[in-house]
Amino acid sequence: MGRLVKKHLLRVVLLVSAGAALLLALLWLQTGRMADVAMDSVATAYSAAGRDSELSAAQAQVAEQLSTVRRQALGIGLAAALLLLAITAIRTWMSVTDLVNTLAKLARNALHIGRGDFEPQPAHQRDDELGELVDAFETMRQQLRETTISRDYLDRILKGMNEAVIVTDQNGIITRVNDAAADLLNYASQDLVGKPITDLVPAEFHAELKHSVHQTPREISYLTSDGRNVPVSYTSSTLKDGAEEIGRIFAAQNISERKRAEQRIRMLARVDALTKLPNRMQFQHLLQRNIARSRRSGQYLALLYLDIDHFKDINDTFGHAAGDTSLEIFAQRIGDSKPEDAVAGRLSGDEFALLIGGFDTLDGISQELTATTRKLLAKLAEPFRVQGEEVFITASIGVAIYPRDADNAIDLIRNADAALYYAKNSGGNCFEFYTPEMNTEAVERLMLKSKLRRAFERDELRVRYQPKYNLRNGRIEGAEALVRWDLPDRGIILPADFIPLAEETTLILQLGEWVLNRVCSDYRFWQRSVPSAGRISVNLSLRQLRQRDFLNNVKQIFRQHQVSPTCLELEITETTLMEDTERAVRILDNFYSMGLHLSIDDFGTGYSSLSALQKFPIGTLKIDKSFVRDVAIDANDATLVSTIIKMGRSLNLDVVAEGVESEQQLQFLREQGCDFAQGHLFGDPVTADGYLDLLLAQAEGTDLHRQLFA
Ligand code: C2E
Ligand code: CA
Ligand code: CA
Repeated sequence: MGRLVKKHLLRVVLLVSAGAALLLALLWLQTGRMADVAMDSVATAYSAAGRDSELSAAQAQVAEQLSTVRRQALGIGLAAALLLLAITAIRTWMSVTDLVNTLAKLARNALHIGRGDFEPQPAHQRDDELGELVDAFETMRQQLRETTISRDYLDRILKGMNEAVIVTDQNGIITRVNDAAADLLNYASQDLVGKPITDLVPAEFHAELKHSVHQTPREISYLTSDGRNVPVSYTSSTLKDGAEEIGRIFAAQNISERKRAEQRIRMLARVDALTKLPNRMQFQHLLQRNIARSRRSGQYLALLYLDIDHFKDINDTFGHAAGDTSLEIFAQRIGDSKPEDAVAGRLSGDEFALLIGGFDTLDGISQELTATTRKLLAKLAEPFRVQGEEVFITASIGVAIYPRDADNAIDLIRNADAALYYAKNSGGNCFEFYTPEMNTEAVERLMLKSKLRRAFERDELRVRYQPKYNLRNGRIEGAEALVRWDLPDRGIILPADFIPLAEETTLILQLGEWVLNRVCSDYRFWQRSVPSAGRISVNLSLRQLRQRDFLNNVKQIFRQHQVSPTCLELEITETTLMEDTERAVRILDNFYSMGLHLSIDDFGTGYSSLSALQKFPIGTLKIDKSFVRDVAIDANDATLVSTIIKMGRSLNLDVVAEGVESEQQLQFLREQGCDFAQGHLFGDPVTADGYLDLLLAQAEGTDLHRQLFA
């Protein structure tokens, strides 16, 4: 029996018992008084009848009868009271029990809710006030259930996110973080709450975090509890309540891995693995920087182009390993005997270069350089031992001076090379200063340029297509358009020999437009025979991107040929993009919104920074052929390529490897999860007709290259 029932029952029993006792007492008193009256009446009657002697006997008899009657009345009263008491008790017990049961159920339901269980529980249906309480309780349960479900759901999402999410109030005080944020920052979640978010980033980023909201990813670093700087890419957005800003949400991703990979790529791509000297690309880059510096300071700069005489003999006689050791020795000697702040580099096989700056006048230069060069030649000519044999090896050097001999890096290298050629021709182990007569090539270039101008009207330009193969299934899914110049009595000239010429003038704009027109018209041609010709990529020059009306010109070409921009892709090198990033972002965003795809060409040879590329709407990454070339034989290049593939894929980019020439390279690229490949392994670039034939063969299942992917 419930406590409530007991208490109420006891009270009712006590009350009813007290009432009954009072009534019985009254009954007893009243009957007593009635008995007295009856005795008096008996006495009066007996004295009136003169029978006083019989009075006492009669009174005794009457008194006895009266007392019997009184006892009987009392008994009946008592029985009635007991009956009443029992009925009242039972009734009370029943109604209180009913109430108590309902309440007990409510109490149990409340306990369930308290424990976070919002499932419906059985409850009494009633139409009294308690029923209303039950209904109110049910409404409350349902509402709690809904809000909790949505809150739990959000909690789970936050918890499951890989991104580190930090929520702040409008003053930048952290109000909430998810597990990923706590992990990233190496704090317990509760220790982060209440901190200003500015405590978590270095001072230089405070203003940025406080004042601006960034929907596109930005890079900063977070400070962990143990004092580390973790590079992250983050976006932020405002948290609003109606129109009022009540806080900010920051979502960040740890990009340490990517940063490390980029650094590694840069290092691998810039340093020659054998000699640890800057490689050709890096040396050219340093040369450009030094030229710019000399230009500002009005000083002269000398470029020494150095080549080992008959180096092939070492390789042939002692093998490649000995050749490599010798190259290391040469590199060492160049380093030892060069002026202190001169820059050395390895340009290719046995070609090295030295950059010596800081000359104020031309007069002093030739004397000083002559001395330096002699010393260098003497040092290099010292004999050394290879496999126990004494070897005598000499070198030749060509020298060109900025700005006297050329005013840019490319020409300076070319002229130093021309001087080197003369030095070699005079027997080796000597040096030559460049003179204009040495460069007949320069004359030829001028002639070629004027011929190129006429190439358009004479219809001498051609476009060839190099198919791109999907590495998962061997299907052709597009091609790269490559321009050629078919010059009568010279034959096919490759772009390396005329694109640089075109780039020196506005001819490159005309050429770019011509290629795009050609590609669009070929595309229409293919569309008549095959459902899809895949995506064709077209190379873009820096000057084209700089052209004022470029966007409109391109739009116009698509319209004219009625080719959808989604069928094409533009290939741009990193260096081109970095020239004027803001302008490039603007133009490329426009292209992207037209549906045109964008691809980074020659990745690895420029900044190699995917972070920097993130602001561009890029869809594809092309690994430069110089890295693909040696993947099967050079561990450095293999690491580099697989790192680029991983990075590209982690940023959802399609990765294309160019210059695939062997099955081993193909195999390696497939293993690393590269998406596409192009190269001579699949044949030479083909004409528009040739490309159509390949597509048709593929549709019929008679294509030849599928077996490479078996
Ligand atoms: P790129 O964009 O890096 O083009 C790839 C180059 O690699 C092409 O040289 C192609 O023929 C070559 N190649 C393809 N597969 C292999 C291979 O397996 N092994 C080797 N060793 N090379 C391979 P190409 O056609 O001589 O073009 C050279 C460069 O000229 C191109 O380099 C591109 O930067 C430029 N170029 C070509 N066509 C155009 C054009 O229409 N417009 C502009 N602006 N530049 C172009
Ligand atoms: Ca290209
Ligand atoms: Ca390329």
